[in-house]
Amino acid sequence: MANRNGWQRALVETTAILKGMAVTFRYLFRRPVTIQYPEERPTVPQRFKGRHWLTLYPDGDERCVGCELCVIVCPSQAIYVKAAENTPQRRVSKGERYAEEFQINMLRCIFCGFCEEACPTGAIVLGHEFELADYSREALIYTKEMLQEPYPGASGRDPAREV
Ligand code: SF4
Ligand code: SF4
Repeated sequence: MANRNGWQRALVETTAILKGMAVTFRYLFRRPVTIQYPEERPTVPQRFKGRHWLTLYPDGDERCVGCELCVIVCPSQAIYVKAAENTPQRRVSKGERYAEEFQINMLRCIFCGFCEEACPTGAIVLGHEFELADYSREALIYTKEMLQEPYPGASGRDPAREV
């Protein structure tokens, strides 16, 4: 009886080893999922959430109206907005207000995308750039000048989109 149990155990263990080896051999001939970064560049999915941009309308007006909804919704308290009023002499956005100052602390951001979802004008978007490392904490507090698109559509988003 003891001998029979020994054979049964040996059979079970051999089967388990063969199953494991089968998995190993199956993956041995598949294309590797790893890439030789940074020489080889990864292609990120379309909905990847990377670096933020503050986007513009086609005429160059800022989309941000300084409403601070992104500040309220941000779970990391990473955003600071100081709003100011547009005047007849100086119109920056299409709303009553615009963001005089806009900062995102990239050290706090968890790239959840809540700010993009909450924004009523589609001003703030998360792009595809992910190489955000820097040498100081100060450099990772992105200012409005760093976040604003240099020209309409520079972030890759259609400047004429609805929201
Ligand atoms: S992506 Fe998330 S954590 Fe980062 S600033 Fe936006 S709301 Fe805050
Ligand atoms: S980015 Fe959007 S949500 Fe944030 S202050 Fe500007 S308009 Fe409001």
